[in-house]
Amino acid sequence: MSWIVWDPFLGIEVVLGTRVKSADVRRKTLLTAMGETISYKFLIIATGARALKLEEFGVKGSDSENVCYLRDLADANRIVDVMHSSAGGNAVVIGGGYIGMECAASLVISKINVTMVFPEDHCMARLFTPKIAAYYEEYYMAKGVKFIKGTVLSSFDIDSNGKVTAVLLRDGTRLPADMVVVGIGIRPNTSLFEGQLTLEKGGIKVNGKMQSSNSSVYAVGDVAAFPVKLFSETRRLEHVDSARKSARHAVSAIMEPEKTGDFDYLPFFYSRVFTLSWQFYGDNVGEAIHFGDFGGSKFGAFWVSKGQLVGSFLEGGTKEEYEAIAKATRLKPVIEDTAELETLGLEFALAVSQTPVQAPPQPTEVRGPSLILEKPLYVWHATAGVIVAASVAAFALWYGRKRRRW
Ligand code: NAD
Repeated sequence: MSWIVWDPFLGIEVVLGTRVKSADVRRKTLLTAMGETISYKFLIIATGARALKLEEFGVKGSDSENVCYLRDLADANRIVDVMHSSAGGNAVVIGGGYIGMECAASLVISKINVTMVFPEDHCMARLFTPKIAAYYEEYYMAKGVKFIKGTVLSSFDIDSNGKVTAVLLRDGTRLPADMVVVGIGIRPNTSLFEGQLTLEKGGIKVNGKMQSSNSSVYAVGDVAAFPVKLFSETRRLEHVDSARKSARHAVSAIMEPEKTGDFDYLPFFYSRVFTLSWQFYGDNVGEAIHFGDFGGSKFGAFWVSKGQLVGSFLEGGTKEEYEAIAKATRLKPVIEDTAELETLGLEFALAVSQTPVQAPPQPTEVRGPSLILEKPLYVWHATAGVIVAASVAAFALWYGRKRRRW
């Protein structure tokens, strides 16, 4: 049965309880599972992604009542229920990415013994350097979390009620389990459009207007592979910030095409666990330059590629410091001396962000937080990057001299 909610003020009709079975982008129609046809002028694909299931790796038993995934509200409610019934028991967390790290922290806070299992040498392998990962792993271990790295699970022990009682690993280890949380990545939901739209990086390829290979069809969020102007590369980003901003951009491109430039997004990821909190901006390619106090609570890393700063990570920063690393990363300043960058650390980003630069040309209309960057602004950024690099070199020289006097 379909539920229709109509908001006459916003002009939005929400049709709930309805699954789209097929799409015909040539005819601009969608066919629902109930047999209804929906016609459109513009289509925005926001189908997101689905959690990868263990079955895709040949492991059976994912449907057991105490094996949990985390993708939607129902999954979250289920994890909480299973957590309550596993109080004081053992949880095995499969995967050392975002879900694994965030769920392991919540489980151990809820007094459940946690063992994390993943194939890489360290946690958050897609983003963290070994040095950054070591900090978090040590912090987690101090909270009681155990890590088993470099292996994957091979099967489950399942009792006569269909509940998992143990996890068997490929290296022969057997881990007793009252519950299992699986966070082994996602796959974008593209199947309705395969063979009809161009795909790239596992998602629907779009241009800077979030427009797919069919000009009436737009894609946003986890499912969209879009050009990241800053890196001149197509990326598919899995994060809420990118989902929100790409959605606003697609709507702007549809409603006001003449005023909407190309999406100019600075990749941004963050996480908060225990009392820790980190943010990352840009790209983690090239040489990683660590800074700060890895024995304390504030540290980070810059990534330098082809002589420019392209990515920044900071744990334990203030709002101003996070804003500074974001601004510095967007400006891509030239880095001539990585040793100096290591010494300056956060001071470098603060200096870059405070460097007075000429105001950029403003777009003709600014619509709230979805400021649309026009092409001349991008060019301005490149120029500003050079100006900033010169200022930073001067700052570094001054700082170096000052330091040598101490
Ligand atoms: P992920 O890609 O972050 O991590 C997947 C992890 O699973 C990796 O450690 C990988 O090595 C491991 N893995 C893969 N196959 C495995 C196997 N067979 N056995 C054991 N480990 C295996 O994915 P995720 O943690 O599942 O997160 C899913 C999505 O949710 C991601 O898109 C993520 O960005 C998003 N998410 C983001 C946040 C945040 O931004 N703070 C929080 C939660 C989830």
